[in-house]
Amino acid sequence: RQKAGSTSRTMQESADAYTRAEKVIPGGVTANIKYFAPHPIFMKKAGGSTLYDADGNRYVDYLLSYGALIHGHGHPSIKEAVIRQMEEDGTTIYGTPHEREIEMAERLCSLYPGMDQVRYTNSGLEATLLALRVAKAYTGRPKIAKFEGHYHGGYDQVLWSINPDEQEAGEAADPQPVPESIGLPEYYQDHIIILPFNDLESTERILRRHADEISTLMMEPVQGGYIPATQAFMDGVRRLTKELGILLIMDEVKTGFRLSLGGAQQTYGITPDLTALGKVLGGGFPVGALGGAEEIMEVLNPKQGWDVMAGGSSNPTRALFHSGTYNGHPTVLAAGMATIDRLQQEAVMENMMNRTKKLRRQLEDVYKKMHIPMKTVGAGSIFNLMFTDGDIRNYRDLKQVDMDLRRRVDEELLQLGVYTKPMNRYSMSTVHSEEDIQFTVDAHEQALRKVKG
Ligand code: PLP
Repeated sequence: RQKAGSTSRTMQESADAYTRAEKVIPGGVTANIKYFAPHPIFMKKAGGSTLYDADGNRYVDYLLSYGALIHGHGHPSIKEAVIRQMEEDGTTIYGTPHEREIEMAERLCSLYPGMDQVRYTNSGLEATLLALRVAKAYTGRPKIAKFEGHYHGGYDQVLWSINPDEQEAGEAADPQPVPESIGLPEYYQDHIIILPFNDLESTERILRRHADEISTLMMEPVQGGYIPATQAFMDGVRRLTKELGILLIMDEVKTGFRLSLGGAQQTYGITPDLTALGKVLGGGFPVGALGGAEEIMEVLNPKQGWDVMAGGSSNPTRALFHSGTYNGHPTVLAAGMATIDRLQQEAVMENMMNRTKKLRRQLEDVYKKMHIPMKTVGAGSIFNLMFTDGDIRNYRDLKQVDMDLRRRVDEELLQLGVYTKPMNRYSMSTVHSEEDIQFTVDAHEQALRKVKG
């Protein structure tokens, strides 16, 4: 591998691609978060822990498609599983039940304490959306609660208070819902309760105030994938939700397979009522899954009110509607099973965790040496760099971070060959090597020298 910063990079092909993209795609990006100034970098090839852009520049990749690629790009065992599935099954999709659906569900139920039964979706968003409908159907209560700063997918019900302005959001101990987008129906603002993460006293006060109307509290056990709930907070949330009859949804779209094989719920020793999975589960293909306690998941059972006379459809007053042409896609499940197989091989997960720790420690050492306040925060194989000396426990604490310095460092890192989308967290894979770590640490040192002048 070339040494960090040994090349001066041109990004002309990316600039040209962006000009072309902007004409036919709003902002030139297929998701708003993919944009950054002056223009995003267009990738053309990848393998393992490496990305190659349209100009042929290479990068150590810590975006990993927002954490999905736990075995890096194009892992041979996943490629092989996908090809084998298509050859063995003779199709990419049956559109009927098939055994891979059972096999994966059995594995998930054995790994995740909160799962007795599973339904598949095509994204993490769909899994959390389905979770909300199940919770509403099960409890009959109209509102949902979520934490300030937590992301559950880009839809109307939950696109509130993810990155709110403090002025609009009010007191830290009693945050108000702030829309994350234009175009959100006001209706949902009246149906969402916002809570302060890692503040049990305030969370309890607000939950008790609204207890009778809240169907569910949906949470990221690790905010943004890198700010962990404290154990005491997690225990408190479980105790309270149980007492108040509020279903606890753990959104493990990021943390699933990344804190441990059984997600954050295994690590914390907490059994949620419902669990949403995505990302890693698909081995790089689109997927989501909702799992939960049998009694709750039964609301999805189409046999409730099955009515042959109504054309074989379920009675909508008794069964919860869930659909999706591609749910339980055989190719996706084959990729997912190969992903889990490899994670279960001896030492694979442990090595990834150890490398993550090592990278975090070495990065902290570099910043210390350069006298720049920086600490890493994270859990399992995900972490982020916080340019501050202060504690980071929730969304409000992020305000103390020196974002401008972070932005300048990240811009330099792109020039030096380390790819995280600017300001984004770092996700590790099982294929990031010692050499990648050294390269990344060196690149940070060089980036710091540059920004410090
Ligand atoms: N929930 C969490 C915690 C996520 O991090 C994400 C995506 O980043 C989602 C839900 C939505 O998943 P998807 O992007 O697959 O729709």
